[in-house]
This record gives sequence, C-alpha cells and structure tokens, in this order.
Amino acid sequence: MKDLLAPIESLAGGHKIAVTADDFAAHSLELVSQFSGADFIAGLDVSEAFTLIGQIDSHISSLMALRARAVVVAVGDKPERARTLSRGTDVALEDVRSSELGAYLRISPLAARNMAEVCRDLVRWLPTTIRHLEVGNIDYGKARIVAEGAHQLYTNLCLIEEDALELDDPKVFEYMERFEQIVCMLIYRRTNSEVRVAVRRAIAQLTPLAEETRHEVGKRERGVEFVDHGDGMTLMQALMTNLDAAKVKNVLEFCAKNDESLTGTHINRMSDALVGIVLGESEITAERRHSAAQVNVVVSLETLLGLSDAPADVIGADFALTANQVRELAGNSHLRRMVVDPSTGALLELGRRSYEPSRQMKDFVKLRDRKCRAPGCVRNAMRCDVDHIQAWDDGGETNVNNLASLCRRHHVLKTIGTWQYELKPNGDTVWTLPDGQVITDYANGWSPEPFADHTVDLSADLEPCPF
Ligand SMILES: [Zn+2]
Repeated sequence: MKDLLAPIESLAGGHKIAVTADDFAAHSLELVSQFSGADFIAGLDVSEAFTLIGQIDSHISSLMALRARAVVVAVGDKPERARTLSRGTDVALEDVRSSELGAYLRISPLAARNMAEVCRDLVRWLPTTIRHLEVGNIDYGKARIVAEGAHQLYTNLCLIEEDALELDDPKVFEYMERFEQIVCMLIYRRTNSEVRVAVRRAIAQLTPLAEETRHEVGKRERGVEFVDHGDGMTLMQALMTNLDAAKVKNVLEFCAKNDESLTGTHINRMSDALVGIVLGESEITAERRHSAAQVNVVVSLETLLGLSDAPADVIGADFALTANQVRELAGNSHLRRMVVDPSTGALLELGRRSYEPSRQMKDFVKLRDRKCRAPGCVRNAMRCDVDHIQAWDDGGETNVNNLASLCRRHHVLKTIGTWQYELKPNGDTVWTLPDGQVITDYANGWSPEPFADHTVDLSADLEPCPF
C-alpha cells in the first residue's frame, strides 16, 4: 500500500519535479498507470481498499488545491469588468476570462464564473482553508462551502459599509482572518452539513447587523406559489423564515410518522399531513402538533443577558440565529435551562421540568448529541433512538455517560454487533467497523473556541505539496 505514495514522495523530495504543465501531465499519467491495473485493485483486501480510497481522495484534494491556484492564474485574481451592487447581491457583470475558461473546459459560462469565483476567494482570502485542502484534510466540496461563506461575508461587509469595498481592502482581510479562524476549527473531518453550520454561525457572529438586515428584506418576499405540474398535480412552494420552516418540517415529520390514517412513502405522508392540517382533517390533535413543532435553540446565558453577541445554534438545522434574533425570540418563548461548559460548549446539565427522569435523560442525550453519533451521519438527534452504549444486559448503566443518539440504521448496525463504538470523556465517539477501521465522530459543540484538540497543527502536519 505504502508504495502508492513512493513515486510522489520521491518527486517532491528530489525537488526535480514537474517544471512545465506537460511534465506534470506526464508524471500524473505515469503514476496512475502504475496502479490502474485490474490486478493491483483485485489484489487488495477490504481494509487496503478503504486506505486506497482515502489516499486517492486525499490526492484529489491536493490536486484541487493546485487546480484552484492554476485557475486564478488563468482567469486573473479579479474579474476584468466592474461589478455592481444590486439589492445587496454582488453581481459580476461580465467576467471575460472566466468565459474563456468555460469554453476551454466545455462548461457553461455560469459554471466557469462560479469556479473562478470560488478559486479566487480561496486563494485571496483563505490561506488556511486552501492549505487544509492541499494536505487532504478537507475535500474540495467543503473548501467551496467555506469560500462561498467568505463571499457572503464580503457582501455583508459591503452592506454595512454602504459602499462597495475593494476585494483586497485591509478591512476585508481582517474579517476574513477572523472568519477562517472560527471556521477552520470546525471543518476537519466533519460532514458538509456541519461545515455549512460552522460557516453560517461565523457569518452571524461577525456581521450580525447585515444578517439581520438581509433577513428583514428577505422576510418581505415571503409568500406561497402554486405551480401546475402538468399531470393533474400541483407543486406548492412557500417562502418562510428558517425558523418557521423548521417548525413546519417537525410537525409534518411527526404527523407522517404518527398518523395511522396516512399511507404511502414518508414524503407522501408528509404531503397528505399538510393537506389534512390545512383542511382541518388531521387525526393528530392540535396540542400534539404544537408540541411536535418544538425547535431547540442553544444559546449562552451571556448572549441572552446581552453580555455577548455570540450567535445561537438551532439543533438539527443548517442555520444560526444572531444574538439579537435569539434575544427577541426568547421574549416570547418557553426557555429551558441547559448548562453548558463555557470552555467546550458541551452540555452539562438540563433544567428540571415535570418529566419522568428517563424522559429527561433522553432529552439531555439528544440535546447534547444534536445528531446521530455515527461518523458522517447527520440525522437530527431529535429523531434518533437513545442507545445504551454498553448494553443493559451486559451491565451497562442507564446514565448519560452510557447513552448516545443513534439513527435507526446505525442503531441496528450497532445492535447486531457489526459496528461498535465507545463514548470518550471529551464527547467524541470512537467507532470500530467490521474490518477494523477506527473512525472518530467528533463531539458537537457550539462555541467557536473549544476545538483546540481537533484542530490540525498545520505547521507539524504539512508535507510539501506532492507535485
Ligand atoms: Zn446515523
């Protein structure tokens, strides 16, 4: 297996590496041809195949970092034509050289412009992110989520300044540095959806005013549309706030699962539940729907008291609320005290209500975990089972240190014994898969500071880019 890397290391170590684009192409071809034989692949065992997939992905990431830099050379670090600002959205009028790139790669001008934009933003503003990409810590998809977030941050800054800032304005760089600091602590070995949450909460933290302004403007656009689907069906689309959408989704999911009069697939039942509720024909009482709508927002006491402007997280959703938005919300909501460790953001204690202890314990575990604790799984913990990590029959206790949220699929895999895991004191779950792979699902937290353990020491970790 190790041999796969040898040609690359010798290339990088000898420094007699590709000096022209043609050399690069020849080297790449040589490398791939050495290992592309069906015999080589057929000779791998399962564990080696996993390692190979990981190595290949890591090299693809390195190559994508290289590509991003090459794209910037090809299209220039700024669009050639001026931009205008229209209603807070920054529009590149025309980007001549990205159109050339599109023609060269046979992709649409829009796709080429997006590619150029992401690559420029990465190279200009996000040195740590592109370094993570270079060493294979993240894939291009995650780098793109960060770059698009950076662009949103830039748009927000222009909104606050009420004037278009230059892309290389020192003030923009200052914000980008803080943005990257917050986000990069939360991108290593995370899912796309976790990276998206980290990006949104960083934007809400750095430019709350712009986020609130955009939200107020966006709110004016709310509405419902009915589009003829052409087959006797109609598509209904509604634009509403993220928070309302999260509540509506919770209710529809709940009804789809619990209303026994509904038939069909889960989404069929959600659609029928919506019709039933609107027409007053739902079998689920208004009271049960009301409690199903509950959305859990995690906010620090400091933010509620106005001592801090740290944003709040909405569990199981892809968006964050600014400090002002959550304070306003708190004014007319039922609040439940959740004590979190200020240094790690880990949930320590849940305020008592009139629930049975077991129910309270389940709530604690779900709110602590936020999602299924299997690596890569993003199922909302509120819709997960609570699993005894060490089975009750094997002497496992019913306390929160022995309980974790697992979606049904991962619960089954664990119960039948093919996947196993343990919960570490820092909240990480460490999984052992059937072929011996050990994979960590890092603890969820909402504080931007606490992830020192999980951040990568780039200075130590960096190997020279292989090419
Ligand atoms: Zn899962």
